[in-house]
Amino acid sequence: MLGPPGVGKGTQAKMLVQALGLKHIASGELFRRNQTRGTDLGVKAQGYISLGNLVPDEITIAMVLEEVLSEPSKDGFILDGFPRNMVQVESLHQALKDIETNIDCAVLLAVPRDELLKRLTGRRLCTKCQANYHLMSSPPGRSGLCNHCDSPLYQREDDMSIAVNTRLEVYYSETRPIIDYYDSLGCLRQIDGVGAVGEVAYRVSNSC
Ligand code: AMP
Repeated sequence: MLGPPGVGKGTQAKMLVQALGLKHIASGELFRRNQTRGTDLGVKAQGYISLGNLVPDEITIAMVLEEVLSEPSKDGFILDGFPRNMVQVESLHQALKDIETNIDCAVLLAVPRDELLKRLTGRRLCTKCQANYHLMSSPPGRSGLCNHCDSPLYQREDDMSIAVNTRLEVYYSETRPIIDYYDSLGCLRQIDGVGAVGEVAYRVSNSC
């Protein structure tokens, strides 16, 4: 699942995971889980994440490949937020070759930059179940509280404005080039990410 921060990769990946029974491997969520637990990995990643930079490859690749290789799902997996540069692409493909599997489909979600900024700055997450809300387009029933588990909502530190701009710049300079690579493999599907979540999900599921 490819695309800039705020485009809806996580939301769409969660819908596909439910519909198809795939394993969901989201690098950003793995980092946030480690930060919440206060692990060494979480502490090492914290400074990079809060400023909107990529966490160094040696930390990220080991963390994600461990998830890919442990308890492989027989129906496959969705990678969300990984790979984000060519070094990660190469490590991923080497690891997949070793287990005789491959990427079937690279879904690129696209929305205009001003829409991304609105989505990122209005995003709120549940502190407990990580459910996703938006202050304007999908607010919770009761202000500041999760509809599912009543826990308080929070704003990700890296969804605040300075880090948001850095994340978008990092995406266009480091991550965009991997799109050409997946295009050259013939497995890239570019999807318009503007619209209701269900409409975008319909486009995604029809593309692969
Ligand atoms: P995300 O939840 O995908 O927006 O990721 C949140 C943050 O985690 C990113 O801004 C990066 O700091 C870090 N991160 C997530 N995935 C990667 C990756 N593949 N490579 C490096 N850093 C990552």
